[in-house]
Amino acid sequence: MSESALREALVLFGQSLYARGYAHGSSGNLSVRLPDGLLVTPTNSCLGRLDPARIARVDAHGRHVAGDAPSKEAFLHLAMYQERPAAQGIVHLHCTHCVALSCLVHDTPDDVLPPITAYYRMRIRQLPLLPYFRPGDRALAEVVREKARTHHAVLLANHGPVVAGKSLEDAVYNAEEMEETAKLFFLLSGRATRLLDGAQIADLDTHFPS
Ligand code: ZN
Repeated sequence: MSESALREALVLFGQSLYARGYAHGSSGNLSVRLPDGLLVTPTNSCLGRLDPARIARVDAHGRHVAGDAPSKEAFLHLAMYQERPAAQGIVHLHCTHCVALSCLVHDTPDDVLPPITAYYRMRIRQLPLLPYFRPGDRALAEVVREKARTHHAVLLANHGPVVAGKSLEDAVYNAEEMEETAKLFFLLSGRATRLLDGAQIADLDTHFPS
């Protein structure tokens, strides 16, 4: 994909996520990998009204080289890309049900969203919760980096998810699947729920290796 096509894709997916309530205000940020860095949505920008020409470009070290100033959370994207060479797109959202999930006390922080459906298992597999950090705290990059070695999706406590994909489209679909699964998790709360069992999960992992 050319750089201009990637810029248009960021605008279109931003509009789509915003229009359907996955992002509000100036929350959330999207990025795509370039051969020598990344394109990332600007700081304080609304995902619903991005201008392709003003999307920030940063180099492989996260230095701002063109466009508007990058999101203050661009360092999270960079840490994830550096640990996951196959990742081409990353989505970070403050979407309602995932944020609610990130505020709960969890007994198993390495796996905070159970295998309710096959699609969740196929797209996300396992979702670890990372500790709370003040927005913009660079210490979060190291925590994300460590977990990104084994997971393409993480949930930041009292904040929201960071999700990578093989393309921007794949990352958006992964983030949407996570948010919809979190919504189901709350709908089912307090009800006896049949989760996928170990054999069904193993069967999915065989047919849909991540
Ligand atoms: Zn955030």
